Amino acid sequence: MFKKKVWLLFIVFFVCAGLVREIDSVNAAGAGSLKLGVNDKLTNINAVSIKDTYFVPLRDLSLETNLVLTLHADGINVKGNNGSIRLMNDRSTATLLNGKKISLVTFLENGRTMVPVKMTTHLGFSISYKPAESLLRVHNSGAKLSDTAFVTQHKKALQANATTGTTGKKGKAVYLSFDDGPSATTSQLLDILAKYNAKATFFMLGPNMNEHASQVKRLVNEGHAPGLHGMTHVKDKFYASPTSALKEMNNDNAILKKITGQSTTLIRTPYGSKPYLTKPFRDKLLTQGYHLWDWNVDSEDWRYKNDSNSIYNTVMREVHSLKKSAPVILMHDQKATLKVLPRILETLKKEGYEFHIITSDMTPNNFWKDHR
Ligand SMILES: [Zn+2]
Repeated sequence: MFKKKVWLLFIVFFVCAGLVREIDSVNAAGAGSLKLGVNDKLTNINAVSIKDTYFVPLRDLSLETNLVLTLHADGINVKGNNGSIRLMNDRSTATLLNGKKISLVTFLENGRTMVPVKMTTHLGFSISYKPAESLLRVHNSGAKLSDTAFVTQHKKALQANATTGTTGKKGKAVYLSFDDGPSATTSQLLDILAKYNAKATFFMLGPNMNEHASQVKRLVNEGHAPGLHGMTHVKDKFYASPTSALKEMNNDNAILKKITGQSTTLIRTPYGSKPYLTKPFRDKLLTQGYHLWDWNVDSEDWRYKNDSNSIYNTVMREVHSLKKSAPVILMHDQKATLKVLPRILETLKKEGYEFHIITSDMTPNNFWKDHR
């Protein structure tokens, strides 16, 4: 079942690739963004306005509103508690439960499917929009607060929203990733990320997750993405055979599931995928639905443990040398990295970067250019 869905995703991706329209106007002058309210909660989801329509990432929306996404040959089915809708591959129409076709534009941005907020009206939600109060909220019977009470309760955040949300600055994505954790210092790492409103992806080892289970829960709760890094981190064991590599990832995933209730398809193999993860290995892992991620910026934070300047300079030099692809930065969940991290985040933020998680619907960036 799982395998089938992944193949369909693959097909959908190629069908859509030719139809993707580059939307450069997302953050152009005049366009704004608002944090989306879902029932009584003000979420971290940025709704961006394009030609009077607010769009949000489908995956984030579905996490906040408990939508179930299923991939089909003709599109993505979105099911809520009160209705469902199928977003068609043409990215301009959707089919309702009764078979009726409506016009509904979706698009890809940084590998994410963006959908109009108004889509939720087909799933049993109502929308409240009060631009003067920076209020954009979807709600159903789960909401207890009136719009007025919602605005009062989230006053501070909504005001901040109004001042930062409409600057018209183009957000560039950067993907921070931390390997080998969780560790005794993960909580400090998460504090730093929270301070900068930065999200990151953690490629974690099974035994470490068992040892620091509360940190795994915390990072997932705070919107970071869990990823798998195997069990042993020993070259001769992990890469002994395609089966041993798959086994390590599956065991790692089982531990993640036990702790958080969710599993992942994101993997990064020990020491990176080159040269050891040859085709037989990749076939074994990727046909099971895993997505392989390496990096294009190596902080070398494992080498320069006591030399923050070298780590900082390495990251900045490599980020600036990238021509087209978004930076995927390799760092480690370790004490030495805590010291230099604020400086790196500070500079990237000033340069207009936004810190996003890697998601399973993105095209994997790895050394083999294996895009499965
Ligand atoms: Zn590692």
